[in-house]
Amino acid sequence: MNISDLCITQDPISLRIADLILVYHIRPIERTMAETGIRIWCSEKSGYRPSWWDMKKGRSGTGAHCFLPGEFGATDWTANVQIQVLLEALIKYTDYTRFGVYPASGFIHCDYRKTKSGKRQVYNENWIVERVIE
Ligand SMILES: [Zn+2]
Repeated sequence: MNISDLCITQDPISLRIADLILVYHIRPIERTMAETGIRIWCSEKSGYRPSWWDMKKGRSGTGAHCFLPGEFGATDWTANVQIQVLLEALIKYTDYTRFGVYPASGFIHCDYRKTKSGKRQVYNENWIVERVIE
């Protein structure tokens, strides 16, 4: 997996963002693939999305994909297995705190933002909490 696979605009990025992509997204997922044999890839290069790009798409520009200072970013992951199988693998082998499951689109949004419960949480596509991971 390459850092460019997680960059939606394909423009050059800062070293800060490159390091975050490598350490907080690519390495945990490569470890998950090695442990499970599941093939996992970034959905439509939706890892790092610059604020200006998200705003152009009608979003706030402050989402987790924007890798704002002090944050660790987000990636949308997809795989060659059913989405629930992917979810369980991501829960087991990564430290992501929030999992947004989008069954229709076939990806899971993963980030490191704090949750209300203080525990890792799974959300449905409307960002309603479906599960608190104990
Ligand atoms: Zn996402």
